[in-house]
Amino acid sequence: MELSVPKSSLEKVVILGGGFAGIELAKKLSSKKYQVVLIDKNNYHQFQPLFYQVATAGLEPSAISFPFRKLFQKNKNVHFRMAKIDGVDIANQEVHTDIGSIKYDKLVIAIGATTNFYGNAEIEKNVLPIKSTSEALAVRNSLFQTLEQALTETNRDKRKTLLTIAIVGGGPTGVEVSGSLADMRRLIFPKDYPELDFTEMDIYLIDGGDRLLGGMKEHASTKSKEYLEKLGIKLIQQCHVTSYDGEKLVLSNGKTILCHTVIWGAGVKPNTIKGLDQDSILPNGRMKVNAFNQLENETSIFALGDVALMEGDELFPKGHPQVAQVAIQQATLLAKNLNKKHPSEWKKFTYKDLGSMATVGRNLAVVEFPKMKFAGFFAWCIWMFVHLISLIGTKNKIQTFLNWVWNYFTYDQSLRLIISPKQKEKKE
Ligand SMILES: Cc1cc2nc3c(=O)[nH]c(=O)nc-3n(C[C@H](O)[C@H](O)[C@H](O)COP(=O)(O)OP(=O)(O)OC[C@H]3O[C@@H](n4cnc5c(N)ncnc54)[C@H](O)[C@@H]3O)c2cc1C
Repeated sequence: MELSVPKSSLEKVVILGGGFAGIELAKKLSSKKYQVVLIDKNNYHQFQPLFYQVATAGLEPSAISFPFRKLFQKNKNVHFRMAKIDGVDIANQEVHTDIGSIKYDKLVIAIGATTNFYGNAEIEKNVLPIKSTSEALAVRNSLFQTLEQALTETNRDKRKTLLTIAIVGGGPTGVEVSGSLADMRRLIFPKDYPELDFTEMDIYLIDGGDRLLGGMKEHASTKSKEYLEKLGIKLIQQCHVTSYDGEKLVLSNGKTILCHTVIWGAGVKPNTIKGLDQDSILPNGRMKVNAFNQLENETSIFALGDVALMEGDELFPKGHPQVAQVAIQQATLLAKNLNKKHPSEWKKFTYKDLGSMATVGRNLAVVEFPKMKFAGFFAWCIWMFVHLISLIGTKNKIQTFLNWVWNYFTYDQSLRLIISPKQKEKKE
């Protein structure tokens, strides 16, 4: 079956994935030169850095999501198709999806990364990942369902297991979720559940490395550790989770933790699609690209963002970090290059590191800019400002800003709803 788009005399660029890279490229490709087809399995763009706030009832999913159709209302050359990408047929210049196949003149792969469970099916089945809006919502539902359950549990040990939470992974996601849950344990849960004793609630953060926020400098690691310990998080470092059956979490140091909730932020692996030349796929699954983001041995296939790996950058000789700025900057340059008359005019990619940051709960954050670093309240204000201006859509910015102001002054988010979507029953 053919995935149809309007007939056009323009060159057709098919973009796989509407994440940070995909939407940036679609917005910036010349409407005089290209017909752009953007394919994503969801009908909305997701702002991943704030997933943790959806998971911890700080923001509604709608505040960090933006419908592709609204985003491209004014870009008449951009056609969005909601489809799951299955594979590519390079010889026939064709992409296969679950709703049909489409030919391309140029193909851009920007399908991002997914949660890495390191091949452990038991862990995958029993933990809660946060790698999509729906997963973040599932974390929120599970947290509040478990509290409701704990409230009616009379056995002390069983209640403690229900109340205990383990977060795995000491990167930004793990640190941010831990800080946020510690704040809720202190400021919100006791008000909502006065019959529960929250001294029974332990929150563990488990990390395989010897310092938190390993992608940032020593200062951020030290400060985030100090803040989390102040908030009462039980930190376990240089230790891996070996198994989890839904109740018993076993660690590589032989210890076990009984907990009903395990939130998994322990790593990502690239999404894959069938049909690509295996020479262009590295052992870690990322696609090897040159300085123009072209796939090995290909002139009309490009990969951007988390899924791509470009070696040789002066600052990052072994490849760039999997962060939003890399995806955005690569997409911006690719659009500029493709908009040029001839490939001889193309420029090579160099990454401009704008810095990194993570928040560790109310009033606390760590920020690293190329020439300065700071932590605490000022860093927290900067973190909020940067995330606010990065959100897509004025409504989302305003909604998020008002939510944060409300939360700040009332010490209370009002989004603690358990909403599980009901699927429409399929007719036989
Ligand atoms: C919880 C979390 C917090 C983060 N926090 C930060 C942060 O604070 N700062 C920062 O810079 N970075 C952060 N990141 C990383 C950042 O979000 C990524 O680096 C960035 O999203 C990469 O952009 P991308 O365009 O390569 O891929 P993505 O943004 O992941 O987009 C990929 C798109 O492809 C689509 N897709 C995937 N597979 C298929 C398929 N088979 N068929 C159809 N569509 C498909 C997806 O739906 C998605 O829309 C965070 C990531 C997570 C998960």
